[in-house]
Order: sequence, then C-alpha cells, then structure tokens
Amino acid sequence: MNLTEYDISHPYHAVVARSERITSEDSAEVRHITLNISSATFNYLEGQSIGVLVPGPHSFGNTHHMRLYSIANARQGEKQNVAEIAICVRRCFYLDEVSGEEYPGVASKFLCDRRAGDEILIVGPYGRQFLAPRDPSCNLLMIGVGTGIAPFRAFLKHIYSERKDWKGKVRLFYGANTGMDQLYLNDKNNDLALYYDEETFEAIHALSPRPHLDEPVDMAAAVRAHAEEVWAMIQCDKTYVYVAGLSRLEGQLDMVLSEIAGSPEAWKERKQALIANRRWATLFYA
Ligand SMILES: Cc1cc2nc3c(=O)[nH]c(=O)nc-3n(C[C@H](O)[C@H](O)[C@H](O)COP(=O)(O)OP(=O)(O)OC[C@H]3O[C@@H](n4cnc5c(N)ncnc54)[C@H](O)[C@@H]3O)c2cc1C
Repeated sequence: MNLTEYDISHPYHAVVARSERITSEDSAEVRHITLNISSATFNYLEGQSIGVLVPGPHSFGNTHHMRLYSIANARQGEKQNVAEIAICVRRCFYLDEVSGEEYPGVASKFLCDRRAGDEILIVGPYGRQFLAPRDPSCNLLMIGVGTGIAPFRAFLKHIYSERKDWKGKVRLFYGANTGMDQLYLNDKNNDLALYYDEETFEAIHALSPRPHLDEPVDMAAAVRAHAEEVWAMIQCDKTYVYVAGLSRLEGQLDMVLSEIAGSPEAWKERKQALIANRRWATLFYA
C-alpha cells in the first residue's frame, strides 16, 4: 500500500520514555526507542507497525512526512508495561545524485534525535497481513535482516514470554552485516538470547561475507546450509513463513529456494500456494 493511502486522521500522542543505541559506535546507528502511549484505545498485535508523523515544514510542498516502524514488543507492552511500545530505528542517509551530498532521512533522524520526555505523534497500528497464527502447534519460519528483526522480537516475546504454550518449531534466520550489528543479539542488547534455551527455538545467523565492502548479508548461504529443514518446514501445511527487512532479501530467497525446490518454476508454484493459503507474509522496505 502506498504511504499516502494510510489513514492518519487519528493520531496519538506518545512520549519518549527511553532511547538506547543498540549498536556499537563503529556500526550504523540503530536505536531501541520506547514510547509511552497513555491512550487505552491504542491496541495492536505482534507484526503490526505504527506510523510516525514528523512535524513540518516539509520540502516539496508535502503537508506531512509519515514513515512506518514495526512494533518490536508483544501485545502486553514493552517490559510488560501496557502503556509502552518499542520501535527499533536505523538512522538512514541518502545520497543526492545531483549534488553528491549525503542527507539524513527525515523520519529516522527525527526519531533518533528524540530523547526521554519528548512528545511525538503516531498513527496506526497498521498491517494485519503479518500476524502469527493462533494455533501453538504451528511452525514459524522467520527470515529477517537488520531492523526487520523487530517484528520477530515481538513474535518471540509473545510466544515464549506471554503465551508459554508454543509447541511448533520456530526458526529465525537472522541477517546482519557483522556480529556486532545483530540487533538484540549483541553486547549492547541481548534480548533474544533469552529464548535460546527454548526447545522449539533455533536462531540461524547470516552475515555479510565482506562487510567492509558493503556486500549484502548472504542469507542464501544460511538457508542453503539448512536446506533440508527449511524445505521440510515449507512443505508442512502447519508452517507459516515471514520475511522482513530490505526488499533485496526477496530476490536472494527466490534464488536459493528455486535451487532447493529444483527449479524456479517449482518454487514459483510452491510460493504461490503458500501465498494463497496465507502462509507466506512479507514486510519489505526499500
Ligand atoms: C512496513 C514497514 C515497516 C518498517 N519498519 C522499520 C523499522 O522497524 N525500523 C526502521 O528503521 N525502518 C523501518 N521501515 C523503514 C522506514 O519506514 C523508513 O522508510 C526509513 O526510516 C527511512 O525514512 P526517513 O524518513 O528517515 O527517510 P526519507 O527522508 O524518507 O528518505 C528515505 C529514502 O527516500 C529517498 N529520498 C527521500 N528524499 C529524497 C531526496 N530529496 N532526494 C533523493 N532521495 C530522496 C532516498 O532514497 C532515501 O533513502 C519500515 C518500512 C515499512 C514499509
């Protein structure tokens, strides 16, 4: 859906409770930002996103600048505080091809510059296409890169900390440039390590082969190394697949899953069946 099509007519006031950098100084800046929303009507489910409205004036005559951010906590609130939600924001930059200058992304700069006590306007929640199944015997195959890990943090918290009855297999393929960039799995914040002891859970890491040359994370290699298990999960009609992060991830997955399926046509057919059965959900950003 195009960003202009979102209903932003009912914004909520939110106050920044905490903003913590969760990557080291020599990695790209990513912050875990906790927002306090006192409105009792703001309800959401894991996998949904909020819109953040950046105050103007804006360039190109735009009346507002709204960007989406995945909610990174489960429905009972961040740290079990129902009034708090968390988002995980990467400070973005873009290169102006005409001037060659680098500019900060508007919403990500706005959010990363906010500090405790600052008030912001949010809208949503949006996105009901990325929700986990209710049946605890279902398998979840989650594939995410970078801040695409945010909705999976929410899923894992719901499954293992709130529900505690999940019996299906849960596999997280998690891509980051380097070990230090693995959000919620590094020295700054190690939240996801909480679930390593869960019998049904396994995290599989994918890194960039040459991070200093900006080579993308090799998710294909990680999936290929677990081809048998991934394919068995995909064939099982109790498995739900979720893919989140930069859109180039889709091409990598199509390539490796075509290999595993035996041909691009075989994968295309299988993927279409997954989509038709609502067992393939994606959340991509450019
Ligand atoms: C469903 C969904 C969930 C998301 N979840 C997260 C999340 O959890 N965490 C996260 O960090 N991000 C997330 N994103 C991405 C986020 O919404 C923003 O796209 C991102 O933060 C950049 O927004 P910005 O306002 O900072 O940058 P913008 O100012 O919008 O710039 C971003 C891009 O727009 C282009 N651009 C804008 N203005 C110009 C210009 N004047 N000249 C040339 N190019 C220009 C550039 O290509 C640039 O890279 C999500 C996106 C979606 C769709």
